Amino acid sequence: MNNPQRKTESATDNRYLSATHEVINQPQPLENYNLYEQDTALREAVLREGAGFANDDLTRFGAWTGLADTIELGNQANANKPGFRTHDRYGHRIDEVTFHPAYHELMRVALENGLHSSPWTNPGKGAHVARAAKYYLHSQVEAAHCCPVTMTFAAIPSIQNQPDLAKLWAPKILANEYDSRNVPDSKKTSVTIGMAMTEKQGGSDVRANTTMAYPIGQQGPGQPYELVGHKWFVSAPMCDAFLVLAQTTSGLSCFLMPRWRPDGTKNPWQVQQLKNKMGNVANASSEVEIRGALAWMVGEEGRGVRTIIEMVAMTRFDCMIGSAAGMRQAVAQATHHCHNRSAFGATLSDQPLMQNVLADLIIENEAALAYTMRVARAMDNQDNEHERLLARLATPVGKYWICKRTPNHAYEAMECIGGSGVMEDCIMPRLFRESPVNAIWEGSGNVQCLDTLRALQKEPETLDAFFKEAAEAKGADRRFDQYLAQLQHNFADISDFQYRARNLVDRMALTMQGSLLLRFGDKDVADAFCASRLQNNGGMNYGNLPSGTNPAAIIKRGTPVVG
Ligand SMILES: Cc1cc2nc3c(=O)[nH]c(=O)nc-3n(C[C@H](O)[C@H](O)[C@H](O)COP(=O)(O)OP(=O)(O)OC[C@H]3O[C@@H](n4cnc5c(N)ncnc54)[C@H](O)[C@@H]3O)c2cc1C
Repeated sequence: MNNPQRKTESATDNRYLSATHEVINQPQPLENYNLYEQDTALREAVLREGAGFANDDLTRFGAWTGLADTIELGNQANANKPGFRTHDRYGHRIDEVTFHPAYHELMRVALENGLHSSPWTNPGKGAHVARAAKYYLHSQVEAAHCCPVTMTFAAIPSIQNQPDLAKLWAPKILANEYDSRNVPDSKKTSVTIGMAMTEKQGGSDVRANTTMAYPIGQQGPGQPYELVGHKWFVSAPMCDAFLVLAQTTSGLSCFLMPRWRPDGTKNPWQVQQLKNKMGNVANASSEVEIRGALAWMVGEEGRGVRTIIEMVAMTRFDCMIGSAAGMRQAVAQATHHCHNRSAFGATLSDQPLMQNVLADLIIENEAALAYTMRVARAMDNQDNEHERLLARLATPVGKYWICKRTPNHAYEAMECIGGSGVMEDCIMPRLFRESPVNAIWEGSGNVQCLDTLRALQKEPETLDAFFKEAAEAKGADRRFDQYLAQLQHNFADISDFQYRARNLVDRMALTMQGSLLLRFGDKDVADAFCASRLQNNGGMNYGNLPSGTNPAAIIKRGTPVVG
């Protein structure tokens, strides 16, 4: 009442009411930039690992992934969870999962760009590297829908164990098209493939599976069976067919099970409900009962794990790409924010302590990317014995390490943004909720460590190949040389490997990342990696780079430029 100005202004004068403050010192959203062009580490890795031919395509794709409209597709696909209907209104069983149109659009772009097919349809130098780079860009838009893309891609090596089935299915699996209709595969020219291994009582230990397979006529590879049992986790249940593990009288075997029978009726593979997940929400995951569903045996009877493990190895590789990509998106968001916000008299990215945190996050991402792209090159050269042995050991080590480093990375990046990083209209909560998933599925952390041990026991040469590769950096840095020597010394006796496995696998990953960064990475990044990861500074969290490192140069390299 005493305010003279208030007396003279109308209470409905919008100009007056909105003049409470000016919004300043807030960044613009990170959009309309080229994710590939603005990612120096990725461009370097693509050239280094043999996929320079893909540069133009990746530049085009990188522009699409940075568009505001594209980013909105990711938001929409997550804001609208998949729905599920068991029956239509006439009472027919349909098992239909419904998705937001944004999910379908992301799937269409992924499949039309060959994210599920390119290394198989155009194999050779750089094929896996080029695909990994594109997947890295695509999953930064939205990670969850990449699950069926990965499974479709990964199914090919396993299905090729059964040439007659591969002849029928591979052309449709490899078609660069997306057909989301809930109709028999015979009416489609492109299909997607899922995998169903996990059961309630078994989980990681698939030998405990109880789903049974009964031969309809003859038994053995390529023959039709009826399957009875359940699966506890089946992601992307709208896939057209699934690779399924089930028991025969000879043991656990692998089967290809379509959602529809050849006569056009529904295969009795019934979805019970969708999982209620804390992350990965755009992707549907389900629980399924199998009531005499028709399926064909893939590969040798009783050797189901050996058959499906080729698919699993590929999905583990994609977990590495996906987690490294999540780190990159987190780094892009954090550096962009801190570059455009000031506190206590200076831009956040110029504050020494924030510089330490940002640079540390960038280093983690660059190390993850360098490792992933080196494994991609190994996959491109599987006829070379060194590369084959390297890929065998580096895959479980990398899947374990990179996926496990991601959740805390996502959280720290969120904290760099501060309070607005916690809000649901920021991508950070989605990155954070997505971040543990890759570590848990496709073989959880301990299972990866035990797989590392299995590789060492079955093929001890894998360790020689791993150390041979790592030792290529010998002499480049004293700290690296000492770290490598200590690790090699600790491998002299692996009698209690199971108990020490996490420690040894952690250090294997760090050794390989250090080697790659010293040989091929940015000088400042490699130096700070050795200083913070290969020497004990006593600190545990991000932001532990010691004095003498060059965070400003690292941050400049990692910060995307918009406009
Ligand atoms: C979102 C989501 C989607 C999924 N989609 C699919 C799918 O499409 N198809 C499918 O088949 N599965 C799917 N899964 C299942 C997933 O692969 C399993 O959850 C995972 O393999 C672990 O199995 P489990 O949950 O039964 O845990 P368990 O096997 O019970 O393991 C629990 C813990 O024990 C550890 N552990 C197990 N054995 C040992 C050991 N010998 N020594 C030490 N530690 C051990 C594990 O590392 C884990 O940390 C999905 C899971 C999630 C979360």
